[in-house]
Amino acid sequence: MENSNKLKRFFDVYIPTEKCNFTCSYCYVGQEGKASGEIMPIGHTPKEVRKALSKKRLGGVCFFNFCGGGETLLGDDILPIIYELLDEGHFIQIVTNGTVTKRFCEISIWESELISRLFFKFSFHYLELKKRNCMDLFFDNIQLMRSKGCSISLELMPHDELIPYADEIKEICLEKVKALPHLTVGRDNTTSELKLLSRFTKEEYGGGWSGFDSDMFRYKMLMFGKEQRQFCYAGEWSCSLRIDTGDVYQCNGLVCIDNIYDRIDEELHFKVVGNQCPHPHCWNCHAYLCLGVMPDVDAPTYASMRDRVCTDGSRWLNDKVREFFSQKLETNNRKYTESEKRLINESAALTRQNYKQQQLITQYKIQNAEYKNWVENLQAQVNDRLKELAEYKDWVNNLQIQVEEFNKEKQVYKDWVNNLQIEIENLKKGKEI
Ligand code: SF4
Ligand code: SF4
Repeated sequence: MENSNKLKRFFDVYIPTEKCNFTCSYCYVGQEGKASGEIMPIGHTPKEVRKALSKKRLGGVCFFNFCGGGETLLGDDILPIIYELLDEGHFIQIVTNGTVTKRFCEISIWESELISRLFFKFSFHYLELKKRNCMDLFFDNIQLMRSKGCSISLELMPHDELIPYADEIKEICLEKVKALPHLTVGRDNTTSELKLLSRFTKEEYGGGWSGFDSDMFRYKMLMFGKEQRQFCYAGEWSCSLRIDTGDVYQCNGLVCIDNIYDRIDEELHFKVVGNQCPHPHCWNCHAYLCLGVMPDVDAPTYASMRDRVCTDGSRWLNDKVREFFSQKLETNNRKYTESEKRLINESAALTRQNYKQQQLITQYKIQNAEYKNWVENLQAQVNDRLKELAEYKDWVNNLQIQVEEFNKEKQVYKDWVNNLQIEIENLKKGKEI
């Protein structure tokens, strides 16, 4: 039977929430030191977002991953947007720490057809949940979403400080979600090489966490540190998107190629990356490569990165989501010929050069603006001094006038005293006479 939900594109969507109710020691938000601690508004109505990301405009059913710069579900304007995009027919993934219960209650009353295309990646922050005494609340929220028909996956960040708790973690997951969590791989985003976030070597780290038997962990470890130089269709089959500004980027950290809110009635412009991904390894290979942005690279399906068969025979992904996550983007998109690829690579090289020049111009403008501000500031200081000097001059002049008046008064008094003296002298003389 033909699949009616053909995966056309993947969008990694950034939600401008830079606030979190947790303080995980390994948090990438903290690592980069960028978190403003604010929940910034999306600034566009759900209907506007739906129109900007309609199936018609994007060419078919798309997969959107919603992830915040802090906890994704803290903001009030996120769920209405997700609802509209589900109603449009897309598939949505929400990355969450699973503790904002009111959001799960809001979702629980949505139509079951919409919920069946919703997938949660529950980040399992074991020590924070323990410390804040909200382990039960976390698993209750997962249970609520599963009972409504959502697909879920539990993901643990295998940080060094969790090593002593590995057995406890396995035990509680088997009890509550009937399978072990999948594992991601910690990376240090503050290093340009995106190093492993661990004091162990890659081999020690991989071996130490292998007991969780996670396909996701195995694949991420295999690809960690491997440069990807095959032809990448990111920029056309997948993009990264800021939902507030609407800017569409080829991939994380690459060039901006369009804006979803500009010319909302027209088609979006795409621009593929080609053979020269500048990153030291694929940013999120378990999503991009597994969904097939690089058709020449062998990769398991995204479904295998997320699904688990539970001890009771159930699965974390429902049939619809598993089928959707098992597709490859190349099935529903046209691949380029070799000569088209050559042209794309040449144009990409020019774009990169142009981008670098743009960056230099921006830097120059910033520096120029800084210099202008410095001169303006100096001028203001000089003006202040001149004003002070003028006030001082007035004060001196005024004092001078007072001194002169005083001297004048003093002279009058002196003359009066002299005259008096003369009169006294004359009187004395007269008396003597
Ligand atoms: S829950 Fe996520 S965003 Fe919040 S502190 Fe932990 S890692 Fe960071
Ligand atoms: S290889 Fe990965 S990180 Fe590089 S452009 Fe392609 S999808 Fe993005």
